[in-house]
Amino acid sequence: MGDNLKIIGVTGGIGAGKSTVLAWLHERYRAKVLEADRIGHEVMEPGTAVYRRIVELYGTSILTEDQKIDRGSLGAIVFSDQEKLKKLNGVIHPAVKEEILRRIDKAREEKETYVVVEAALFLEENYDAFCDETWYIYTNEETRAKRLKESRGYTKERIAQIFANQKRHEEFLSRCEVVIDNNGTPDETRQQIDRRMKKADEIM
Ligand code: ADP
Repeated sequence: MGDNLKIIGVTGGIGAGKSTVLAWLHERYRAKVLEADRIGHEVMEPGTAVYRRIVELYGTSILTEDQKIDRGSLGAIVFSDQEKLKKLNGVIHPAVKEEILRRIDKAREEKETYVVVEAALFLEENYDAFCDETWYIYTNEETRAKRLKESRGYTKERIAQIFANQKRHEEFLSRCEVVIDNNGTPDETRQQIDRRMKKADEIM
């Protein structure tokens, strides 16, 4: 590529510790963090092409008083209708990916060293195609359930339902070059990250 920007992808199940890893990469390595979920909100702001398209598809009843898209109303419309959900994702997902690629270009222009990309649908959307390496944050289901219950107050039922809709451990393993084991203490996880970052520097 002829530059020094390293693009790291981060994936794993809900509650695995992805946000925690991103925070460490930002704090310790000044990595520029790109979160698909957050960018998804930004591309739906009034004035964007995605905003116009969504209003065109679902009407002004999904707008709040200050003309923003009400994610709750939108969710209620697509929740029980697979076709509508597919259509909505077809509008949002490409826009998010495009925006991420644009920000990667910008990071390259600004001579950043690391960009880290995190997305719930990282593998489904083939984000690994533009990352130099993809990290799987691995935490077993029992530990994730425990942490989610403590931190987000999720019920057992809700957790089980979310887990059932996520990719399996084996699939993450088979598609990610790096596994970060986050079953232990935060310190143990940081040590693994530091080792991996050192290796990445040696390769570059
Ligand atoms: P994700 O972004 O993958 O959904 P989070 O980073 O939000 O997961 O982590 C889920 C919860 O577990 C958070 O409350 C976080 O502080 C906590 N957590 C993450 N890693 C550890 C760890 N190694 N030990 C204890 N708690 C952790």
